[in-house]
Amino acid sequence: MHSGMTLIDLRSDTVTKPTTAMRKAMAQADVGDDVYGEDPTVNKLQDAVAALLGKKAALFVPSGTMANQLAIRVHTQPGQEVIAESKAHIVRYEQGAAAALSGVQLHCIPGDRGLVGADLVEAAIRPSDPHTVRTALICLENTHNGGGGTIYPLSTIERIRAVAVDRRIPMHLDGARLFNAVTATTLPAASYAQHFETVSLCLSKGLGAPAGSLLASNDLALIERARRFRRMYGGAMRQAGVLAAAGLYALEHHVARLKTDHDNAKRLARRLQHIPAITISPQHVETNIIVFDVPGHRLAPAALVAALKQEGVLINAVGGTSFRAVTHLDVSTEAIDQAADVFARVLR
Ligand SMILES: *Cc1c(COP(=O)(O)O)cnc(C)c1O
Repeated sequence: MHSGMTLIDLRSDTVTKPTTAMRKAMAQADVGDDVYGEDPTVNKLQDAVAALLGKKAALFVPSGTMANQLAIRVHTQPGQEVIAESKAHIVRYEQGAAAALSGVQLHCIPGDRGLVGADLVEAAIRPSDPHTVRTALICLENTHNGGGGTIYPLSTIERIRAVAVDRRIPMHLDGARLFNAVTATTLPAASYAQHFETVSLCLSKGLGAPAGSLLASNDLALIERARRFRRMYGGAMRQAGVLAAAGLYALEHHVARLKTDHDNAKRLARRLQHIPAITISPQHVETNIIVFDVPGHRLAPAALVAALKQEGVLINAVGGTSFRAVTHLDVSTEAIDQAADVFARVLR
């Protein structure tokens, strides 16, 4: 890396740092002991997120993984089965928590860029039969991280919902990046959330907060059970209002600007398309995640990542010859153009 060069970090939208204004909101937060339910800022955030999602209540938790795992815990019994797409965060990136913490097995169905249709979901539901494992929950992810930031069409969700209602199976939405889908489609968050018994949401991705996720539901008893398991899992925090304040600030100031991340992602994808070594479908870049291939390059994926880093651009290798770049709050359009120049130079 050249001395004095600032890294353009496209590894993930989790690398954002709280802005000065966000830190000010955190410093000024009114706080209390949230295990006693007495943190006014946490309560305000929970109410705000519940309202945004059109749900009766929401529970603040440290991470998106915990929000997803609390949902699985409250919807299932040990020995049951949860339907999820093969590349889902719940399947790939949560350390097998569904098995370890809830004692359930995951029934993985392969999607097209992470999305599955109602027919595949219906086929995966086990018959009600004393021989077969019981299907207890259907999980969807919107936007889909492993699928490349794909947006679930609302019509597909509606068809899956009809199957789930017919078979009396609850649905959970991993909405870590739901606001990216909301921004891209201009559909209200509640129009997605209405089809799910529980919805998780991350404040620490594109929204730019340092930590925090929420689990929302219309079922107050279910939220109270999740609150008990949050304690069991070590996620009950005390003066968590300093984090909730960052979340409230993010919801107020960092949702509309996600459009800039999406525009930047498309801008980068169009530039990458002109580099012969790269295979990319810019039309598949729907939100802030860009997945592309560099097939048959002389450098192995890890060496290619290192060569880009040497020139000041950080990305992730995501298996095979695929790579992932993610745009976010801390990457300007100017930095995107600089990154595109680096890709062109390194892959020449
Ligand atoms: C990041 C992410 C999560 C949660 O991640 P944490 O790091 O535990 O907050 C859940 N689902 C998806 C799709 C994600 O991208």
